Amino acid sequence: LVQTFYINMICIPITARSPEDTVSEMISASKHADIVELRIDYIPELQNAEACIEESLKRKTKPVIITNRPEREGGKFNGSEQDRLRLLQKAIDLGADYVDVEYDSIKQITRRNSSKIIISHHNFKETPHNLSKIYDDICQQKPDIVKIVTYANDIIDNIRIFELLKSAQIPTISFCMGEPGYISRILTKKFGGFLTFASLEKGKESAPGQLTVDELSKIYHFKEINEETKLYGIIGNPVSHSMSPAIHNASFIEKGLNNVYVPLKIANIDAFMRECRKIDFQGFSVTIPHKESVLPFLDDLDHTARKIGAINTIVNRKGKLTGYNTDCMAAVMGLEYSMKEANETLNNKKVSIIGAGGAARAIAFGLKEKGCDITIFNRTIERAEKLSHDVKCKFESFEEIHQIDSDILINTTSIGMFPDVNQTPVSKNILKKGMIVFDAVYNPIETRLLREANENGCHTVNGLSMFINQAAEQFRLWTNIDPPIELMTKVVKEML
Ligand code: NAP
Repeated sequence: LVQTFYINMICIPITARSPEDTVSEMISASKHADIVELRIDYIPELQNAEACIEESLKRKTKPVIITNRPEREGGKFNGSEQDRLRLLQKAIDLGADYVDVEYDSIKQITRRNSSKIIISHHNFKETPHNLSKIYDDICQQKPDIVKIVTYANDIIDNIRIFELLKSAQIPTISFCMGEPGYISRILTKKFGGFLTFASLEKGKESAPGQLTVDELSKIYHFKEINEETKLYGIIGNPVSHSMSPAIHNASFIEKGLNNVYVPLKIANIDAFMRECRKIDFQGFSVTIPHKESVLPFLDDLDHTARKIGAINTIVNRKGKLTGYNTDCMAAVMGLEYSMKEANETLNNKKVSIIGAGGAARAIAFGLKEKGCDITIFNRTIERAEKLSHDVKCKFESFEEIHQIDSDILINTTSIGMFPDVNQTPVSKNILKKGMIVFDAVYNPIETRLLREANENGCHTVNGLSMFINQAAEQFRLWTNIDPPIELMTKVVKEML
């Protein structure tokens, strides 16, 4: 009953340094949290720590965990072990809802009926392979709740924690610290974790990798996650600044889908693609640097993705992983829309593409299929040559760009992207009236290239439309539901 009643709580840790601040932060945190953890070890003076326990337990409005973590387990308490345990015992004697006692100290604590005992184990270096042994050892000491917190050095460490949670017999708190452990703080709920920790605001984290309560609620809709929730994520490195979690999670909620989408910072794609099948992700977005390196791990490729040789989307259909390239469709859709407004089509249009990376590849293949006459311009001429060979189009060196005679000019380099917003890939005088100018860069939405193109009377297409369309097509592939494009645009604009 305890497990089903309290399961999946959000706990806000309080790391203030005085009894007064602890009480006032506890009161603010109680408005957002289901439970509050008072980190007594952050209070330097013993007397103050004692006063803090008394005062907080009198004034609390939500259940409280009292924790007095020693330095050896990553805490701040540096006094004697006797003093540390005396404070924990006091919390139990005063009837604190929960008291966190480290596994190696449990035998020195006298239990009272009303306080529930969390027996905890922390590993700040790694996620060891003997997790079930640690779990069984803790269970021998008859905890009310088991807490095992480890450090993730790689994203796949989270998977072992999820497996531990799935097999847990009593209420269990378990997740990984560190940036690679970020997802375990969100997904612990799906796998039956007793609670997750979230800080009240940035800078008030009690452990590395902790999300804020706002991120947990507003981006990941933590309260909506349950064991039926389907998993999606973005595979890349880095991914911490990706807008995709905000876009897709908002869209899932809008359409009433029980799905959650998380960032997956993947260093070792081989290991992740092997292990991820254990926890049944339903789909992925794929970004730099894995758009090509992920191909050997897929079961099938859509026809366009196969031609391009790179993907940005994976769909899991009953265990079979299929790769798609929605960047390609998205770019073509944006340009076709612009052509339609001018009563034109893409067929036979002369197109100059600046850049020969992943975006250029997707766009060039898409436009080739539409009958465009393409020339690739790139700083590294060998890459331009290789792409033109694959697409069967022309190429030139970057310096030749001032001579272009095109209907459509496309920038696929990062030139002009924030923070270097004053840069532009071409001089303004080559932007001729009536030309269509498309910039794949979407931060800022109006780049210097697009501003100057507008000033010269060109039609412009911004990278935002491509970005939204590629996300919208991913959503459609995963769900077979029309994507909420207006909402997606609103979310991205707010973030930008
Ligand atoms: P990528 O594979 O790393 O390719 C980068 C390209 O930019 C290469 O051709 C590179 O030339 C060129 N480049 C970079 N810096 C340059 C400079 N200072 N001068 C000249 N050329 C330079 O990256 P990508 O995935 O194609 O992405 C490129 C841009 O497109 C990024 O800004 C990205 O945000 C944007 N993008 C937007 C969308 C969207 O949905 N709107 C989708 C994908 C990408 P070298 O070959 O000489 O290195």
